[in-house]
Amino acid sequence: MTRSTVERVVRDPRFERLVPAEAELVRLRDGALWAEGPVYLPDDDAIAWSDVRSNVVHRWSAADGASDLYRPSDFANGHTLDRSGLILACEQGRRRIARYERDGARTTVVDRYQGARLNSPNDVIVASDGAIWFTDPPYGILDDSEGYKADSELGGCFVFRFNPSGGALTVASDDLVHPNGLALSPDETTLYVSDTSAARIEGGNHHILAFDVVDGRRLASPRVFTVIEPGWPDGLRVDVEGNVWTSAGDGIHVLDAAGGELGRIILPQTASNCTFGGPDGRRLFITATSALWSIDVGIRGAVTPWVVER
Ligand code: MG
Repeated sequence: MTRSTVERVVRDPRFERLVPAEAELVRLRDGALWAEGPVYLPDDDAIAWSDVRSNVVHRWSAADGASDLYRPSDFANGHTLDRSGLILACEQGRRRIARYERDGARTTVVDRYQGARLNSPNDVIVASDGAIWFTDPPYGILDDSEGYKADSELGGCFVFRFNPSGGALTVASDDLVHPNGLALSPDETTLYVSDTSAARIEGGNHHILAFDVVDGRRLASPRVFTVIEPGWPDGLRVDVEGNVWTSAGDGIHVLDAAGGELGRIILPQTASNCTFGGPDGRRLFITATSALWSIDVGIRGAVTPWVVER
């Protein structure tokens, strides 16, 4: 573990409260091939995160240190918790959304759309109504580095919404070339989805689209929320005030709900994802290339139901 004072870029005075100048950046773990998919486990004050290309999901807590949660992980990438607190995983190898059951088993939540296999689910969130929203780019089937090379059976890469009670899987958007990270605004009326196609396609996208969420089910009015440089936006999260915290080539960029940049947390590595955690919801965990980082920030994440406000 190494600690240092954060390096910031401040674009707006509001950033001073979100990421104070004296905030400490902590490198919790290193040595991954491609760190991704962090999810906070409030019952244990622990973090689970993926080393996608090493085919393992790690767990870390201050009390227990580092351990393997799943090895092999079926090339798991993004994670979240469902409404009962169980981990949902995007398994690029088995091309499914899986659930980690309390008895240790991993079961299939969804792996097909109209009979065709998914490409390789990348990131996943759960709305307050229990609906599972996830992205399905091709990164697990392009080659064998983080999955198994195969043809797409869908012929496209979509944002999906899955209703776990009714079992219905619907295409929510076909507006992105390679949909990747996603997050809902605090009132769940806006969905943000990143497009990382620039990572694989020359001239590809490196932007985040915003959508109106209609009746909690449908997406409307897609528009470019921001274009990320350097690099591209992969995983992203939203705080309780609606600011968007997104991964980028130089760290984490923070934007207000109108898309104005507030500032940046500079990392020595390309960031891939982040999630809010900690007992008070104000610790940002960041996955970046080989390492898992944390930084205590001045605001709570939008999805921090374990925090009881007094
Ligand atoms: Mg991702």
